[in-house]
Amino acid sequence: MLISLVVPCFNEEEILTRFHERVTDEMARLGHEFRLVYVDDGSADRTLAILQELADADPRTRYVSFSRNFGKEAAMLAGLQHAEGDAVVIMDADLQHPPELVGRMLQEHAAGYDQVIARRTRTGDRVTRTVTARAYYWLVNRLVDVELVDGVGDFRLLSRRTVDAVLELTEYNRFSKGLFAWVGFRTTTFGYENAVREEGRSAWTFGKLLNYGLDGLLSFNNKPLRAALYLGMLLMSVALAYAAWIVGVALVRGVDTPGYVTLIVVVTALAGVQMVMLGVVGEYVGRIYYEVKRRPHFLVKATNVVRATSSPTPSASARERRELVRR
Ligand code: UDP
Ligand code: MG
Repeated sequence: MLISLVVPCFNEEEILTRFHERVTDEMARLGHEFRLVYVDDGSADRTLAILQELADADPRTRYVSFSRNFGKEAAMLAGLQHAEGDAVVIMDADLQHPPELVGRMLQEHAAGYDQVIARRTRTGDRVTRTVTARAYYWLVNRLVDVELVDGVGDFRLLSRRTVDAVLELTEYNRFSKGLFAWVGFRTTTFGYENAVREEGRSAWTFGKLLNYGLDGLLSFNNKPLRAALYLGMLLMSVALAYAAWIVGVALVRGVDTPGYVTLIVVVTALAGVQMVMLGVVGEYVGRIYYEVKRRPHFLVKATNVVRATSSPTPSASARERRELVRR
């Protein structure tokens, strides 16, 4: 069995060497043949230089370096495109995904599972983040078609056919948590205690998390559009009922003093609702705009992989992969 480990790295110079040692030790202990596929996501520090040193010292190391920061989703896509072998494990470079769990993943894979997911606890997270995450997953699971689970991230093992399936999904707006859930296959999950980041700091700010959350909501179906439609219909019926009531009262008791405040409140509230609905529609139009441009997901600046293509057609990538394996 050949295993590839895909590792997206963004400004990870402090920890990369230690990560590499820990992972190679662990893989040696497990006794599997493996490749390490590092993706430098346009780091501004010495990440690329360190990767090149690691690759010179260890022929099992591959790296792909982006021309700028394209985001972790693009980095994972590049990693999966360049990963060879029967199974691929995606893990973070900051040692928050304990390499000791890879053995357990391989065991479950040997038992016939295509996706083995390590689910983290929320120990060490700030209370606010835990609470917002809980609320978010409650909401999102009522809206999207695939099941998203709190604590389940990108730390997982994918079988060859699962990787190929994920690579068939060539959409520009990538929300991996959802894509992995969407492809399905036999999946199993086990839990592990969350590890706090040792070096550097998380690239996630509150604003980024908010945008990521919205992406998750909007990437899978048009239920938010539906919700906007229903809300519109609800408001329209309320307005009609209110109008009928006013007319009724005027007929019975004659014309009363007009309600200036009510009028202003209704006008502003309705304007707000309309803006929100326009925003929802705009989000979808924006997504279409990005998809039709058909831009590559990333651009490669340096690599030691034989042939790096940014976003090949699925069939071409499968062919290339076979060639790579043969070589
Ligand atoms: N990462 C990346 N591109 C980015 C941001 C992050 O490749 O734009 C990598 C980062 O180097 C790390 C992983 O994605 O290996 C997870 O990032 P981080 O630790 O910042 O996120 P968190 O663990 O807080 O979810
Ligand atoms: Mg991290």
